[in-house]
Amino acid sequence: MAYKITDECISCGACEVECKNQAISEGDTTYVIDPDKCTECIGYFESSKCAEVCPVDACVPDPEHEENKEQLLEKWHKLHPGETPA
Ligand code: SF4
Ligand code: SF4
Repeated sequence: MAYKITDECISCGACEVECKNQAISEGDTTYVIDPDKCTECIGYFESSKCAEVCPVDACVPDPEHEENKEQLLEKWHKLHPGETPA
């Protein structure tokens, strides 16, 4: 499932540079994740990079975007046509 950023976010920007899908951007009060671009890092890594680097644990799975591994990989292929997942 796609990740989301909670209100705990202190807008440090550490997660944005880690996201290889460019799913993270600066929002009005916190950074935000575009669920159409978040693959849970599937296609690149085994685990979610944004969650790993966030100093306040504000990057969490979003239960409103329930997706299985196959769906996440399909999303990755649409975002990166012609590329091979890691
Ligand atoms: S889980 Fe991965 S793909 Fe999703 S927003 Fe975080 S860094 Fe980007
Ligand atoms: S790393 Fe965490 S605190 Fe920093 S911008 Fe991202 S979600 Fe916010």
